[in-house]
Amino acid sequence: MEAWRRQLDEPVSAFPIVKAGPAHVATLKTFDPPLSTLEGRTFAGARRRAKRLMFPTADGELVVLVHLMTAGRLKYLRAGEKGPKVPAFRLEFEGGAQLVLTEAGSKKRAGVWLLTPEAVEAELAHLGPEALGLGAVALGEICAEESRRLHSLLRDQRVIAGIGRAWANEILHHAQLSPFALSRDLAPEQVQRLSDAIDTELGRGLELRERGANDARTYRMHDKLREPCYVCGTPIARVDYEEHTVYYCPDCQTGGRVLKDRRLSRLLR
Ligand SMILES: [Zn+2]
Repeated sequence: MEAWRRQLDEPVSAFPIVKAGPAHVATLKTFDPPLSTLEGRTFAGARRRAKRLMFPTADGELVVLVHLMTAGRLKYLRAGEKGPKVPAFRLEFEGGAQLVLTEAGSKKRAGVWLLTPEAVEAELAHLGPEALGLGAVALGEICAEESRRLHSLLRDQRVIAGIGRAWANEILHHAQLSPFALSRDLAPEQVQRLSDAIDTELGRGLELRERGANDARTYRMHDKLREPCYVCGTPIARVDYEEHTVYYCPDCQTGGRVLKDRRLSRLLR
């Protein structure tokens, strides 16, 4: 997300918006103020909070907030550049450049909100501190607060903002911690390792995305079932947990133990 923000920051603020919309009915989540109130205004740039991208207007009155979910893509098209016929959302700038949101598949999960700055604040108030640069001290406090499975804790945006399920897999593997270890059981040295892994992995992701790498090249654990672990060569394992699939290395992370599906292991307990 940070890589996208950097790419969009300059171009979106170059020209005023001449036409806002159309937007897919499932994508645009707000109707007041109407999209047309954007027309004639210029963005101040692109901002980011956790996985949300925000485009505040230069006059400080409105903010376009975008959440891409899993399949949404936001693209800046220069004047004359070919784009999708029916994007889920489109903004056209003076001179012909466009900002378009597309989403693969029939389910529209990505969202666009047109809000006042106050409404954005309210919307974001429940988010935890940013993951990147969080540091071991703050992370230690978060881990001690309540006993949570690490994979679920890392993904909880109210606790730490900015880590999705894929990066939770990458980070926990890098830290050599089990996705199911309990946060309160971590030794200070393990908290430090987890904190370092958050910065290293998110930093690595940012760099690869800026160079245009795709998911397959960016992730080393996520979605790599049975491929060799890049550290020890053990085939990567997978366990289905609640609505998420967790990828891990049984040798590096769980002391050789193969984890059972959560639902199944509950029955067997
Ligand atoms: Zn391994």
